[in-house]
Amino acid sequence: MNNCIFCQIVKKEIPADIVFENNSVVAFLDVNPTNKGHTLVVSKRHFADICETDDSIASEIFVKAKNIAHMIVRAVHADGFNLIVNNGSVAGQVVMHTHLHIVPRFRDDGLKQWPHKDISKEEMQEIKNKIASFLKE
Ligand code: AMP
Ligand code: ZN
Repeated sequence: MNNCIFCQIVKKEIPADIVFENNSVVAFLDVNPTNKGHTLVVSKRHFADICETDDSIASEIFVKAKNIAHMIVRAVHADGFNLIVNNGSVAGQVVMHTHLHIVPRFRDDGLKQWPHKDISKEEMQEIKNKIASFLKE
């Protein structure tokens, strides 16, 4: 995709702070980090989002993210990390090219965990049954 910013980074048309690269993924520092060491693991091929992404590449992104996150923890002395995929604009996806965020976490870093919703037992059962039946299709 010509005007995709991550495709441009993959093709080295614009600079990025690349920490890892192989044939299928590239990882670089997020230019607008949530915490120090915030890194994006990006597929080299353009896919609009994780649902569109080949299973093998989606798997590779996750496995690489796990290994890179461990090295980020060592590099910035983090206490933990979040692996996050924002899928779809309603979920906060801004760059429509598959990527996974590694957000290092520090004790008392001030970031809030997600709030929770009250959902009735009946609705939980209904949702569970629907998801399970769709997965059998
Ligand atoms: P998302 O909201 O999941 O689409 O996240 C996109 C992320 O890409 C944001 O956290 C941006 O800060 C980051 N980003 C956008 N442009 C660049 C760039 N040129 N280099 C590094 N990170 C970028
Ligand atoms: Zn792209």
